[in-house]
Amino acid sequence: MLVTVLGFYGGYPYKGIGTSGYLLQNDGKNMLIDCGSGVLNALSNYMQPTDLDAVILSHYHHDHTADVGVLQYNWLAAKKESPLPIYGHTQDFVNFAQLTEPNATKGIAYNDYEPTEIGTLKFEFLRTVHPVPAYAMRITDKTGKVIVYTADTTYFDGLVDFSKDADLLIADTNFPEDVTGRKWHLNTKEAGTLAKDANVKRLMISHLPQTVDVETMLSQTQKYAEQIPVVNAFQGLEMEI
Ligand SMILES: [Zn+2]
Ligand SMILES: [Zn+2]
Repeated sequence: MLVTVLGFYGGYPYKGIGTSGYLLQNDGKNMLIDCGSGVLNALSNYMQPTDLDAVILSHYHHDHTADVGVLQYNWLAAKKESPLPIYGHTQDFVNFAQLTEPNATKGIAYNDYEPTEIGTLKFEFLRTVHPVPAYAMRITDKTGKVIVYTADTTYFDGLVDFSKDADLLIADTNFPEDVTGRKWHLNTKEAGTLAKDANVKRLMISHLPQTVDVETMLSQTQKYAEQIPVVNAFQGLEMEI
């Protein structure tokens, strides 16, 4: 599996860099995980967006879905024979319905009680703790390699089991360690500790804040991740799993 970061800011784009979007390529298939603001623009540097085989959305907050509408226009204009599948949860029927655009895209439901096969990958989902329904993803390829994406979430114990022994953990790390208490994202201490407790091979911190310098976020996370290597998401970062 090859992951390319197309956008990594939490909440809103900043200085030409978009919000959450990750291109996942495996076995000749091109998949997009989340489709935030600026992601379609970034994707077009790598391929025609009409070369996508699937989109998988963690939840319906704008910083994860802002470019879905323009992606649908792109597919409409291309007059492709079959629609682009967009996978989403059905805990919000209004937003799920919008994943289907006639002659462009088709919404497909996933759930957290059975895996979803997309290409040759197995996607498992776990409901996170967030103001709206959101789902973390555990993605396993046919060789057994695993990527876990936390999506947006506050810390909860279930994340450790769900992330266990992953080859790559992509963690929503929106706050420095001194931001504690009630919040809807992980801080650096929680992301680093999660990586260590789950014994993952590598951690990528993402959904980063615009207002805290990345070196601080990285060094704080590394302190708690101990021996687990930590990288910060940046535009164009490619990780081969
Ligand atoms: Zn978000
Ligand atoms: Zn969110």
